[in-house]
Amino acid sequence: MLRRNRKKKNSRSSKSGAEDLPQVVFKPKAADKAAEQGIMIACRGIEQFPAASDLIAQALLARADQIMLDYSQQGVAIRIRVNGLWESLPPLDRETGDPVLVILKKLCNLNPTDRRSRQIGTLPLSMKGTDWIVSFTSQGIATGERVLMRIEPKKQVLNNLGDLGMREKMQQQLRDLLNSNKAIFVFSGVAGHALPTMWRVGLESADRFVRDFHSIEDVTVGDPELINIGRHTFDTAAGETPMTVLKSLLLKQPDALILPDLFSPEIAKLICSEVANEGRYAITRIVAGSSIEAIIKLMATYPASAKSLVKLTCGCINLRLLRRLCTECREPFQPTPQLLQKLGLPAGRVQTLYKPNIPPPPEQRFDAQGKPLEIEICKQCNGRGYYGRMGVFELLQLNDEIRQALLKKPDVQSVLAVARKSGFLTLQEEGALAVAQGLTSLQELQRVLYPAKKA
Ligand SMILES: [Zn+2]
Repeated sequence: MLRRNRKKKNSRSSKSGAEDLPQVVFKPKAADKAAEQGIMIACRGIEQFPAASDLIAQALLARADQIMLDYSQQGVAIRIRVNGLWESLPPLDRETGDPVLVILKKLCNLNPTDRRSRQIGTLPLSMKGTDWIVSFTSQGIATGERVLMRIEPKKQVLNNLGDLGMREKMQQQLRDLLNSNKAIFVFSGVAGHALPTMWRVGLESADRFVRDFHSIEDVTVGDPELINIGRHTFDTAAGETPMTVLKSLLLKQPDALILPDLFSPEIAKLICSEVANEGRYAITRIVAGSSIEAIIKLMATYPASAKSLVKLTCGCINLRLLRRLCTECREPFQPTPQLLQKLGLPAGRVQTLYKPNIPPPPEQRFDAQGKPLEIEICKQCNGRGYYGRMGVFELLQLNDEIRQALLKKPDVQSVLAVARKSGFLTLQEEGALAVAQGLTSLQELQRVLYPAKKA
């Protein structure tokens, strides 16, 4: 619970009944140390400072990666995003919510009196020894003002393919593909499912010490800088194009070209020719629901180079994020043979599957006589049933049969039928393996992969 209307800072451990939240240490950035101290003194002087701290602490404790505040006449609605899903927190009244926003804006070095314009700032902070960066955006809207805070750990926590949840054999296959020559590799995925993270971790798993890696990026797109990869940016506002940057880069004879986008038919054509004739390696990425769809989409986007793209592409990866079952409270159950068949798992091999243990909402925690039920809420996941997320991946390795199928009929189902013959497993099948291992639940797999079919 948020403790509201606390009169004094030292009333923290009072009889309010709320458990004590850890202290958040704000580290505002300003022109100099004195200005930063000035901000802190001004903020601490506001009575609702502990409420601002508690709001952030509550989100961090829940492992939320976003906080949304909606200011309207009636009050302040608060939502946090945990494991990719939005949850509501008890609202604040304006009496508390307004000063909290003043504090947050001051901490981000923004103008607290402006409640209409779009304001963007960042706020470094720490809690229990871990450093975080909050990206703050506020914007006046028809009903009032909306605030979005994205929370990211200062230190990247996902550093290798294993951290992302990729199984070992696939990690090796992916590394081999990323270290081949005279080929194109494609990363693909959908919005909100960690494609940029996969891109960073995947590229960092390639051998960049033996070969010369160079990327071409739009200066306005905020991809994180990669270790041991030469970065070449173009600024369209300054009249630069990816083509001019690429041409000057090619003079340096790079081994591998990293293109977050193929940008234009001319670049797609030039890349294909550099790969085919100069033996270079190229990596690109595209938004698509599956590996096969990604290749078909590339062919459709660059029809003049479709044949070359198919011929040169060695592989394509795609991923989804699934919530991980909380290992402290997941519930085992015996799957029926029908369920195993539906999952494509051999009968007899898997004795136990797991489902999330989600307690009923507080208003339903009574028995038939109206007596309150004793329900223990899991301390690790706080009754969410899930704790953190993991990736499931499908890795398509192109061979001549798959290439022929793509060129003959660029259609997901017919290409899939051919790809299966070489052992290709889809996201659904890879996800079923994760369910069989008790890492995630069937419900979660269905929620993520078949959102339209959800009841
Ligand atoms: Zn739990």
